[in-house]
Amino acid sequence: MVDCLVIGGGVVGLSIAYEMAARGKSVRVLDRREFGSEASWAGAGILPPGGSKNLNHPLDQMQAASSDLHREWAARLSAETGVDTGYRECGGVYLAGKPGEVASLLGLQGWFAERGVEMHRVTHSELREFEPALVDDPDRIRAAFLLPGEAQLRNPHHLSALQQACRRRGVDLVPHCEVTEFEILAEQVVGVASRGQTYRADRYCLTSGAWTHQLLEQLSISNGILPVRGQIVLFRGDRQLFRRVINEGPRYIVPRDDGRVLVGSTEEEVGYHKGTTDEAIAELTDLAHSLVPQLRDAQVERTWSGLRPGSFDGFPYMGRVVPWSNVFVAAGHFRSGLFLSPAIAVAMSQLMCGETPTIDLTPFAPHRG
Ligand SMILES: Cc1cc2nc3c(=O)[nH]c(=O)nc-3n(C[C@H](O)[C@H](O)[C@H](O)COP(=O)(O)OP(=O)(O)OC[C@H]3O[C@@H](n4cnc5c(N)ncnc54)[C@H](O)[C@@H]3O)c2cc1C
Repeated sequence: MVDCLVIGGGVVGLSIAYEMAARGKSVRVLDRREFGSEASWAGAGILPPGGSKNLNHPLDQMQAASSDLHREWAARLSAETGVDTGYRECGGVYLAGKPGEVASLLGLQGWFAERGVEMHRVTHSELREFEPALVDDPDRIRAAFLLPGEAQLRNPHHLSALQQACRRRGVDLVPHCEVTEFEILAEQVVGVASRGQTYRADRYCLTSGAWTHQLLEQLSISNGILPVRGQIVLFRGDRQLFRRVINEGPRYIVPRDDGRVLVGSTEEEVGYHKGTTDEAIAELTDLAHSLVPQLRDAQVERTWSGLRPGSFDGFPYMGRVVPWSNVFVAAGHFRSGLFLSPAIAVAMSQLMCGETPTIDLTPFAPHRG
């Protein structure tokens, strides 16, 4: 019997376990596979900046809190485990390739400005100075903006650090342990079953990513969590060609310190089918070649896909699962789960420890539909 049983060891579950253990709680995390091997591994690790003013909506507050916490957690995880999580405040470049995209970037600039985040337009010659590896073609790049506060995380390294830090805090991590059933008594879950064994806890937290849908259904909770596939191409390079994350519409190119370059991503509703398609990989490769011509000489090292946990209204599910008195959920963070994970961990731990979360979780209530 532990204080808290976390079901799903992606970035969300591991972060919650890490934070709950810091509060002195005994924690066990079950994952049906190896820890951190689904969306949290597959993601790009882009961390947009959080604002400092007009943070009226709880989602704005979560973003701002996460932005600060990532800096803190990277330092703390490195001190506790010796692992460099690859957290870098590298900055971002936002490009418009088509006329309509200029207007949407001006809108994004206004959205950031309202929240006190600097994003400014640069001329072609300034862009050349900042990122000389980018294509020098005003027909290809119609406008460019810099977002200096953008950061990135090497998510596989971050996940490895989180697991080590959890173990150091006494968290019991149980891989290859799929939860298939709940044992129920009145309005309480009293155990979960996996491979003929029952695991018991005071409270249960569902952090099973895109698969949370099925677990909530078993508890008779209808919900709009759905898998949204994203594909990635990884280039191997021998030196870093550019420093900032390059964004164009929903696509991005992320430079890692070791010369590798990650290009993503698609948004596909194909159920739980992972795998890549020739069309998407060709499209992402063309995008990379057209924006960074030197990548034509780089080898494609690997391609992959992951299933983001999407939600029907674009908001995540976070909170207690009414009417169950001891069941909580944190899932459905779509394209932002890596980014929001530390703030999710703090808010969910506050809630599960009986405190009022510093950030109001009402808009994310699991029973909203
Ligand atoms: C291509 C791609 C690019 C992305 N880029 C970014 C980005 O740049 N920035 C960002 O912030 N986010 C990004 N994301 C989104 C981010 O990866 C997700 O929002 C986040 O990883 C979700 O974390 P999670 O822990 O909820 O889910 P997951 O990482 O999917 O973890 C869920 C875990 O639950 C386990 N599980 C499922 N069912 C059960 C069960 N019944 N019993 C036990 N265990 C179970 C699974 O095995 C899995 O390990 C990207 C995602 C993809 C796919």
